[in-house]
Amino acid sequence: MLRLTEIKLPLDHPPEALRAAILQRLGVRDDALLAVRIFKRAYDARKKHALLLVYTVDVEVANEAALLKKFRNDAHVRPSPDMDYRFVGHAPDSLDERPLVVGFGPCGIFAALVLAQMGFKPIVLERGKAVRERTQDTWGLWRKKVVNPESNVQFGEGGAGTFSDGKLYSQIKDPRHLGRKVLTEFVKAGAPEEILYVSKPHIGTFRLVSMVEAMRHEIEQLGGEIRFEQRVTDVLIEDGRVAGVVLASGETLKSRHVVLALGHSARDTFEMLHARGVHLEAKPFSIGFRIEHPQSLIDRARLGPNAGNPLLGAADYKLVHHAKNGRTVYSFCMCPGGTVVAATSEPGRVVTNGMSQYSRNERNANAGIVVGITPADFPGDDPLAGIRLQRELEARAFVLGGGDYQAPGQLVGDFLAGKPSTELGSVEPSYKPGVHLTDLATALPPFAIEAIREALPAFDKQIQGFAMKDAVLTGVETRTSSPVRITRGDDFQSLNVKGLYPAGEGAGYAGGILSAGVDGIKVAEAVARDVLGLEAAQ
Ligand code: FAD
Repeated sequence: MLRLTEIKLPLDHPPEALRAAILQRLGVRDDALLAVRIFKRAYDARKKHALLLVYTVDVEVANEAALLKKFRNDAHVRPSPDMDYRFVGHAPDSLDERPLVVGFGPCGIFAALVLAQMGFKPIVLERGKAVRERTQDTWGLWRKKVVNPESNVQFGEGGAGTFSDGKLYSQIKDPRHLGRKVLTEFVKAGAPEEILYVSKPHIGTFRLVSMVEAMRHEIEQLGGEIRFEQRVTDVLIEDGRVAGVVLASGETLKSRHVVLALGHSARDTFEMLHARGVHLEAKPFSIGFRIEHPQSLIDRARLGPNAGNPLLGAADYKLVHHAKNGRTVYSFCMCPGGTVVAATSEPGRVVTNGMSQYSRNERNANAGIVVGITPADFPGDDPLAGIRLQRELEARAFVLGGGDYQAPGQLVGDFLAGKPSTELGSVEPSYKPGVHLTDLATALPPFAIEAIREALPAFDKQIQGFAMKDAVLTGVETRTSSPVRITRGDDFQSLNVKGLYPAGEGAGYAGGILSAGVDGIKVAEAVARDVLGLEAAQ
């Protein structure tokens, strides 16, 4: 197979134009082109009036060696890389111990799936409920203002990304193409095939729910076990090695291999690990607000006359501004055609995030507008200080929102003018259970407010209308990534507790669904290597 990159065609090209372009590019006759598979389809929107689709294709040709020779100096014609996934080993028949996986978000799902596929029969312990029951609890907050601290947007089958936009791309380095394994498993579980080739795949919330169930069934069929409503409250450590975990029910499960795929909101579990002496560090994360605009404004700004083209879908954006006070402000988890969601896992706190359906056809676009902070900004220098800051900001947002789980909100025009909002304009905010208009100036530390006030007009220069006075800010956005790192060594094990495998977003080794899934695979491999006595991966 040959991989051809940078094949550019007009947005409205007929299907046969791609084959013609490949033939022309390679200079071969039609009968020499045996098969064509689209590997990636992106678009180049720099010239809005002549928007181009950019293809990467894998082709089977009759005369591959000759063509490789002919194009030896052409970086856009290369042998297709081998992207098949290979297991590092298989469990022996006489398995005397089952690995434990704590958490069933994307990281725990992939850790458990790959362990199960290798025959290790993992036991998964998830504090929340199975996904359909969890959905009811999540809606309980959105519709009835009731928070279930064990079953919510953050906790339960599928993890934090279940009620999300389901964006499936990441900027991680992935020389082993593990992201491909994640996407392939998602397709097996019911995701649309296109996630394998569009440049910014997403699946939306509804599909994620049934995909998560399908993956649970596969793990179970392979001998794994998934236990819901089983919160891990303690880890057993003997001579510097993990020996098992204790559950909230008091039950003890023994194992010398425990994967911690906790997500970034498992604050009580981080506290327990710290108390047990597991090495943790405070790490940077970001804080800010959600912003909502009409999706049509973003479409027009990004796609010009091609706005609304079904091949392009609802437009997204990614913005960065380096403020004069040294802070960086950026857009985070942008959800085209989506809704802002109440994402707290703790009573008496308000947190925003965003989600969408596959169709992305809600009227508003939303994104976090967040400011990077470091441990130097935290109230204290212990590993848990970032959690205290998050809690403080989330509790303040609860009060500013009126104390009944509405999000505090402000129009962008008023925020920039420094006056409270009293009335909505043309943008109807989507956050449920509702938005309480106020002044957001005290919702974040002054440096963050200052940086966001500077960034919004700067973003308006890139997306005309971004700082429109009626756009709505809601807050607070605090769960952008984990405030702690459960540091691990090259063998993927905790620095000071052998057999403990910190993984995914909560441990500080992933950010987003795809990278959490990839990290889950790596950790599953590390567990397998340790059990099988294989050399650590390089
Ligand atoms: P999590 O998904 O957080 O899973 C951790 C699991 O561990 C949870 O289910 C939790 O219940 C369980 N757990 C925690 N403590 C314990 C314990 N003590 N005992 C037992 N179980 C425990 N990312 C994207 O890439 N694209 C998006 O579009 C996107 N949108 C998002 C929208 C929302 C509303 C949210 C909240 C997040 C979104 N994210 C998105 C981020 C993404 O969800 C996370 O990066 C990802 O889920 C992290 O995966 P994880 O498996 O490491 O952790």
